[in-house]
Amino acid sequence: MKKVVVLGSTGSIGRATLEVIEHRKKDFQVFALAARSNLDLLVKQAKRFRPKLVITGDNGQLSNLRKKLGAIKISVLAGIDGLIEASIQPEVDIVVMAMSGLAGVFPTLAAIEKRKRIALATKEILVSFGKIIMEKSRLYNTEILPIDSEQVALHQCLNGSKLTEVKKVILTASGGPFLQRKSLKNVKLSDALRHPIWQMGKKITIDSATLMNKGLEVIETVRFWNFSPQKVEVLIHPQSLIHSMVEFLDGSILAQLAVPDMRLPIQYALTFPERLPSLTAFLDFSKLRNFDFFRPDLKKFPCLKLADQAIQKDNGYPCVLNAANEIAVEAFLSQKLNFAHIPKIIAKTLAAHQPKRPLNLAQLISVDKWARNYAIKLISKEQS
Ligand code: MG
Repeated sequence: MKKVVVLGSTGSIGRATLEVIEHRKKDFQVFALAARSNLDLLVKQAKRFRPKLVITGDNGQLSNLRKKLGAIKISVLAGIDGLIEASIQPEVDIVVMAMSGLAGVFPTLAAIEKRKRIALATKEILVSFGKIIMEKSRLYNTEILPIDSEQVALHQCLNGSKLTEVKKVILTASGGPFLQRKSLKNVKLSDALRHPIWQMGKKITIDSATLMNKGLEVIETVRFWNFSPQKVEVLIHPQSLIHSMVEFLDGSILAQLAVPDMRLPIQYALTFPERLPSLTAFLDFSKLRNFDFFRPDLKKFPCLKLADQAIQKDNGYPCVLNAANEIAVEAFLSQKLNFAHIPKIIAKTLAAHQPKRPLNLAQLISVDKWARNYAIKLISKEQS
């Protein structure tokens, strides 16, 4: 029985993780659950899964959480220290990192030092701090498995292969809600939140509409496998049945296919190297009619190009890209910024970054802070 910590249990990946754990309850048990603000759902989950610990990311909510749990005997912690403490307990086998925001880097690094398997859904952490995380995981010989359908596809295609035999990897993208739309001027929030394939949180749904999600995944791929950025290609595949592919030096291509359902990559990250029956439906090949692929339009979706440039330049640029994107997406979600201006804010913030190296964690955190403030100022200038 493996004991699992789910950080970000009330978000879409967290909830899907709990479905997988419930389905495989002979193999997995919830050790701790953590959420920032949705305490009602957190308490509901705690009553159902009976973890040893529940954590609220917000220090101010500690007594509130305790009150809501009532007579149930579960220890309660709060803040970053609580997240770290839960992740390093000796009984813990796996930490599922599905919290939004960069604060997740601290429990992630702490869990790496204790050699817990990390199932990493928060790709922003790998984008901003990926070098540090991956170096530490190699130093401690800790396994990290990303929870991202593309990365899990690559993991399966590359399993057992030498990375030097890879010619390139091809990340597939659904293309998001605006694939067919001609102009991205006057995009409504409700249109951007309507993803054709995946039901996800708001931030990643907007990232999918701008294709920044794929840009972040290019950087995630570079960090995770240590590939050069030139080896990572993006291809639009609207059916989202091939989740990514690897082309080898001899011309062979391996692809991973499945019905789009995040519970499959989550279960893979929990059970690897074993495969077990899952909740995901089986794909009926005889019913597939269209299987389309084409190159992304970088003029229409400049975010993808910005991400590519950021990883080519490295030296803090990916961190700036991620920070400016988070601020711009937040502003769009609160209807303070036009959809078409999201890439403009990011481009301007990237242009103002003064690259430095080498960058340690503290330096990267200050780069992140600087980029957020810079993007906020740009947005308020636009409004005035
Ligand atoms: Mg993905």
